Amino acid sequence: MTTQIFAYILHKDGKADDSALELVTAARQIDPDAAVTAVIGGHGADLEAVCSEIGPAYGEIWKIDSEALAFINAEVIRDMLVRVLPAGSITLIAHEHFGMDLSPGLSVKLDAAYLPDAVAFDGIADGRLKAVREEYSGQVSTHVQVDLTNGAVITVRPGSFQPDETGGRAGQVADKSAAALEGGVPGANRRFIEVIEAEVGDVDITKSDVLVSVGRGIEDEDNLEIVEELAEALGAVVSCSRPIVDAKWMEKARQVGTSGQTVKPKVYLALGISGSFQHMGGIKGNPYIVAINKNPKAPIFQVADVGLVEDILEFVPELTEKLEG
Ligand SMILES: Cc1cc2nc3c(=O)[nH]c(=O)nc-3n(C[C@H](O)[C@H](O)[C@H](O)COP(=O)(O)OP(=O)(O)OC[C@H]3O[C@@H](n4cnc5c(N)ncnc54)[C@H](O)[C@@H]3O)c2cc1C
Repeated sequence: MTTQIFAYILHKDGKADDSALELVTAARQIDPDAAVTAVIGGHGADLEAVCSEIGPAYGEIWKIDSEALAFINAEVIRDMLVRVLPAGSITLIAHEHFGMDLSPGLSVKLDAAYLPDAVAFDGIADGRLKAVREEYSGQVSTHVQVDLTNGAVITVRPGSFQPDETGGRAGQVADKSAAALEGGVPGANRRFIEVIEAEVGDVDITKSDVLVSVGRGIEDEDNLEIVEELAEALGAVVSCSRPIVDAKWMEKARQVGTSGQTVKPKVYLALGISGSFQHMGGIKGNPYIVAINKNPKAPIFQVADVGLVEDILEFVPELTEKLEG
């Protein structure tokens, strides 16, 4: 029997989230022969734009168009998905804020298994899917089996799968709005009020091609100087992880991550950053990552293109000197 996998597509301002192409790769790792369908909720021109954008990556796209989804509400789309998703299917959703909001309730309503934050899959055997998760900030991997009897809702960690750039698929759009809206717009206990954009600050880190990002490994506010000097030598902008903002050493506008800014640089230098998924979740566009960390087991090394096991307090000033010399 063909495995049916649905990839729920996150989008904003008429553009698909990077996870849209990563979920194709994740689905192929679950079952290379699966029928993979994108499912996407939204409204009007923005929704149409996203359907066209992801078309080449998916054979089929199920769209749900409703005014009630102009600003997406997890409770509303959850109940709509319950009306359209076939029993026993697998639904993949990015492990982002919205995905974390939507997925547990969806799995309960579908009576399906729930697996959060998967980073790899090892195929299906005897009706069970083998998946890999990470615990303790990536220091430990756990292997789990998911019973697929009633299907599954799985959140997939952003950045864990390469985006599928194969393209050339049919991108056939099927309008599922009528089925999703049968019985009316689902009720919700929450209602959208307004969007408040994050403060931009004196420097906009989202626009920089090269970011020198600093984490708790810098140890002291006074040591930030060495990071600023390196950034200047590279013509880069300084960003940081959350503990640096929590310590009030840098403004919030410099924080990269799920509760900070989403950045899309070409090169990302991570200095004394462990590589938590909340931090990495803010890095999009598959940049070239150079990580410097004194712990060889730091999870950042699993995603870095170049990893250096060094003490940043000694290495960074030397590197700056070499660059300037
Ligand atoms: C709801 C929620 C939202 C969050 N949002 C964000 C977010 O948006 N952005 C974010 O960054 N975090 C966020 N976090 C926090 C996140 O979970 C991590 O705690 C944080 O990313 C860790 O920051 P870090 O890597 O700088 O620090 P740590 O995890 O403490 O890592 C410091 C690293 O520095 C290394 N190190 C220490 N000294 C040196 C040295 N001298 N030389 C070289 N390496 C050294 C260590 O080996 C270690 O790997 C969030 C957490 C929650 C619960």
